Amino acid sequence: MKKRPTFPAQLESTVAKPRAVPLPLLGSVPQGLGMDSQAVRQRMVQKLQGQGITDSAVLAAMGTVERHRFVDSALVNQAYEDTSLPIGLGQTISKPGVVSRMAELLRNGRQEKLGRVLEIGTGCGYQAAVLSFLATEVYSIERLRGLHDKARENLRHLRLPNVHLLFGDGREGYAKGAPYAAIIAAAGGEAVPPAWIDQLAVGGRLVAPVVTSGAQGGSQALLVLDKTAQGVRSSLLEAVHFVPLKSGVA
Ligand code: SAH
Repeated sequence: MKKRPTFPAQLESTVAKPRAVPLPLLGSVPQGLGMDSQAVRQRMVQKLQGQGITDSAVLAAMGTVERHRFVDSALVNQAYEDTSLPIGLGQTISKPGVVSRMAELLRNGRQEKLGRVLEIGTGCGYQAAVLSFLATEVYSIERLRGLHDKARENLRHLRLPNVHLLFGDGREGYAKGAPYAAIIAAAGGEAVPPAWIDQLAVGGRLVAPVVTSGAQGGSQALLVLDKTAQGVRSSLLEAVHFVPLKSGVA
């Protein structure tokens, strides 16, 4: 009886054996990183822990989302360094250290997921992807059409049904999703727009960079604001450097 060739045997007989391919130089970085990016991300997570991030859900999300898929191919080899990177239209993706710090502040030590979260400044969509693992719903607003479209493209393959991308001026918030358990801004203004405080749930927390008063040249610090039944309580934390919160859309 003629033996039916098994799949590998058939492959051997019809396909030429691949020749050893020399390791390409720069061109190989994206694909190579894609294959072992898990290990690179774990090193990044260890560095985040070294910087004092302890929230295990935040660390897990940072270890899961492939930051290299959100930056231009020329920047892929810097994707897991603790640095902000250009994403086009004069904007930047925030440093992993800052993304995780703000996420940890938003969660405020809780065990369970956050409810609905509003993000102002979608940019390339990276932080929205991280937040999608920490919240039941993420509403993310971007004022630049080009970046809103880019984020949609970047997030498509991740299929995150709880991320809702919106195009508009985030200073007005997004009333339809309110009240929010948390609001996070990735762009810094002079003051917190009143709509954000209105749309924050009682018991909710807002984390945003704000331009510190009296400062020259727009120095910013991280503001943490808690809305309680008695009113708002806020504190200014460390200095940060974010792109400016602008008005209108473009
Ligand atoms: N979270 C983003 C960071 C993007 S940088 C990321 O992970 O990539 C901040 C973004 O805020 C920029 O894309 C900028 O266009 C946007 N932005 C600034 N002012 C805004 C506003 N009023 N409404 C919505 N987005 C705004």
